[in-house]
Amino acid sequence: MYHEDDLLPISALQHLLFCERQCALIHIEGLWAENRLTVEGQHLHRRANSEERETRRTDEGRRVRILRSMMLRSMKYGLTGVADVVELHEGPDEGPPTAFPIEYKRGKPKRGDYDRVQLCAQALCIEEMLDTKVSAGAIFYARTRRREEVSFSIGLRKKTVDAAQQLHALIRSGATPIARKQPKCRRCSLFDLCMPDGTFNRSASAYLKRSIARVKSATHGSADDQWENGS
Ligand code: SF4
Repeated sequence: MYHEDDLLPISALQHLLFCERQCALIHIEGLWAENRLTVEGQHLHRRANSEERETRRTDEGRRVRILRSMMLRSMKYGLTGVADVVELHEGPDEGPPTAFPIEYKRGKPKRGDYDRVQLCAQALCIEEMLDTKVSAGAIFYARTRRREEVSFSIGLRKKTVDAAQQLHALIRSGATPIARKQPKCRRCSLFDLCMPDGTFNRSASAYLKRSIARVKSATHGSADDQWENGS
């Protein structure tokens, strides 16, 4: 079991699966840069989270309670986050309702499992918090306006738990992996911070310090040989 102070954001799993270095830059070095994709994503989440709780009925007349911005956490896996929407479906019997998390995403379904892992992590939190079984959820994609149903299979659960363990190990290490230029770097919101001017394999915070020193020295009219030498 993890301690409250050790909980890590569920969203970091996506960063980790996209690129371990991006995850370290954001969650170890504290860097964040917005690009069009992240701004659109935040706007979508704000819209999803802006409405009040509500209730609806299914065609069969069963009640569905809709919880928005539900706070989540798992002490077992050391994760915390917010679910855009969690539907609580009443069953035909008196038993507890079935939880069904829904995540809102910009764009369209991706080839990787990033989004499904994030949703599965939410399901693991809900299971622990409500002492229930969550067998499926959905991801709503704004570009295609389609809902993709996700089944929380044994394989997806394992991938999610493995990612959570890898995330904790990365954060504990405090070490940012070196940069490796890949095709996906073009879509990365941290591209300029990760490998500015082609300076691979350097700490981004060290880069920022050098940049600030360069601006200061330019302001005060003195040369910054260290920076120019790239050291
Ligand atoms: S630019 Fe590439 S290597 Fe750097 S954080 Fe982004 S995806 Fe990772």
